[in-house]
Amino acid sequence: MPRVVPVVDPSAVGVVPGVSPVATPDAPASRAPVSLTPVPSTRPTIPRLTVSPRSDAFRRQFFPQAAVRDWNDWRWQNRNRVRHLADLERMFQLTADEREAIVRHEGALPVGIPPCYASRVDAGDPAQGLRRTVLPVLGEYLKSRGEADDPLGEDSHSPVPGLVHRYPDRVLLLVTNFCSVYCRYCTRARMVGSVGERSIRKHDLEKAIDYIAATPTVRDVLLSGGDPLSLDDERLEWILARLRAIPHVEFIRIGSKQPVVQPQRITPALTRILKRYHPLWMSLHFTHPDELTPEVAEACGRLADAGIPLGSQTVLLKGVNDDLGTMKALVQGLLRIRVRPYYLYQCDPITGSAHFRTPVQTGIDIIRGLRGHTTGYAVPTYVIDAPDGGGKIPVAPDYVTGRDGDDLLLTNYANGSYRYPDPQPDAAGCESA
Ligand code: SF4
Repeated sequence: MPRVVPVVDPSAVGVVPGVSPVATPDAPASRAPVSLTPVPSTRPTIPRLTVSPRSDAFRRQFFPQAAVRDWNDWRWQNRNRVRHLADLERMFQLTADEREAIVRHEGALPVGIPPCYASRVDAGDPAQGLRRTVLPVLGEYLKSRGEADDPLGEDSHSPVPGLVHRYPDRVLLLVTNFCSVYCRYCTRARMVGSVGERSIRKHDLEKAIDYIAATPTVRDVLLSGGDPLSLDDERLEWILARLRAIPHVEFIRIGSKQPVVQPQRITPALTRILKRYHPLWMSLHFTHPDELTPEVAEACGRLADAGIPLGSQTVLLKGVNDDLGTMKALVQGLLRIRVRPYYLYQCDPITGSAHFRTPVQTGIDIIRGLRGHTTGYAVPTYVIDAPDGGGKIPVAPDYVTGRDGDDLLLTNYANGSYRYPDPQPDAAGCESA
């Protein structure tokens, strides 16, 4: 049974101006009689966040001793992640394949699902998209042609531990191997959640920051991991402050799934910290429209209100989001919660990912089905992250069908044919008459 923090003082629940909770804090059955003498609370203030009816029903069923205050505390969500077979079996009707995969698992990429995210997982449908992304199946143990533990060659582009320097002007700083949730298709499956989930050692972090400070071509630092927003406020601010103090670092980015799987993490205290280190951008990892909950919308609103431009990164996954209807619902929903669809990734060929990977043509067809059929802001760039460190290569439908003299022949989203005057410069660099 997951450990539950008892409520001592429900009145200590902090109120965020302008945010109306849907559910009110309720009391557990074991609540002590209320004292009439005010006692100063030593517990941290927990900001209120919307709790949707589905999440609340899940809380009452599986965490009956937890109050809304607990549910809204991201540390409680972390402490109570669903990780063990007994709890998984209590919450979901596991298939024999899922069960065996869980039993066989050892090493990195364990199972870990925060209760609020688990409430979105279908208990009875093993084909549900979200469920496929968080519960392992035996396909994870099969190695197919072209797969590798480190398909992007990150380890070979790492001049110091925790830092990947692949492009000239930017670096990837891996600040932790901890994630609140472990996605079964993770590019860093080789390292995330490995024994002793922990953030990068301070000594290694110092070396990585020293490397950035000594490399004036680096103008952009992307914090990733694991999930940087799983760090506590103090540690995260220390890293941001150190990076901001480097004159040639113009720009800091954070890649995170935390607002999606654990929206409680986006507290007013966190956004106050983040605001101090602009220009700061964020790439949020969304997978499926089922993730667009009221809680997640509120968390993204808090980040957007803090002036942080939000982009999404989505991995194209077989049986999860590889059809136009699902992808359109996701990208249109993202715009509604103030997140701009940024990248759609072809799934990296990590070991044991064949059951997730689609033909590249599927992604091209999805982009063709979006471009012109919905708002341009909703159309992400579809990319293949080339194996062995080749970087992101855009893959797109071809709308140029040919050339006729000085006319370029084009086709539009509705398959209409068009000509665009495009005179070719002659050898002297002048356009023809
Ligand atoms: S949140 Fe990101 S880093 Fe963590 S397991 Fe999922 S994909 Fe990997």
